[in-house]
Amino acid sequence: MPVKNMTKKQIQTFFERLREQRPHPQTELNYSSPFELLIAVLLSAQATDVSVNKATDKLYPVANTAQAILNLGIDGLKEYIKTIGLYNSKAENVIKTCQILVDQYQGQIPETREQLEALPGVGRKTANVVLNTAFGQPTMAVDTHIFRVGNRTGLAVGKNVLEVEHRLIKVIPKEFIIDSHHWLILHGRYCCIARKPKCGECIVSDVCNWPDRFEFGAVKSIAIKNLS
Ligand code: SF4
Repeated sequence: MPVKNMTKKQIQTFFERLREQRPHPQTELNYSSPFELLIAVLLSAQATDVSVNKATDKLYPVANTAQAILNLGIDGLKEYIKTIGLYNSKAENVIKTCQILVDQYQGQIPETREQLEALPGVGRKTANVVLNTAFGQPTMAVDTHIFRVGNRTGLAVGKNVLEVEHRLIKVIPKEFIIDSHHWLILHGRYCCIARKPKCGECIVSDVCNWPDRFEFGAVKSIAIKNLS
């Protein structure tokens, strides 16, 4: 059965609940500057945040600027990140990115999508995370969790990540847009998980449109009341 799009009222309630649950949502990557965030996100492709944090917790006290990482050199950098998947190609991209930051931006992180996406290893998703998390822009980086939650719940149905991204930006009320990226990721990571979603303990099950939620423990009477 296709999932129905959520109504405005459902979306409003959905985000009010997520906000109530996590008033100040944060990325689970450790960082203390836009530069540290950019490098952490670049390293996190197809790797867990935990594995990235383990590496950067040692790397950043030694080198947390573009110039300092260039000074380490590619082999020096690899020593810190070799526990992260795909570390060889990531090390190359980090070094190339740091060189561009030093040559073109005085070591600072540029604040436009075009400039960010021109950096080696930085795609649309990474650019969106940096624009949103470091610079507070209303962008939406759609990862596997957000793609699933958007499609499953009827919040933002789309065939690919770009469709879901555009739909989310369109339907999420302004008051929630900055933090919605983190709320959706955390909801997808800990509750609306891929194989066995925890619908029985989900705080938005009454406004979710996923037809199978009752098989996973959502309570029917409450849902019907809040959907009408
Ligand atoms: S009810 Fe289930 S499917 Fe719907 S948002 Fe909650 S966990 Fe996800």
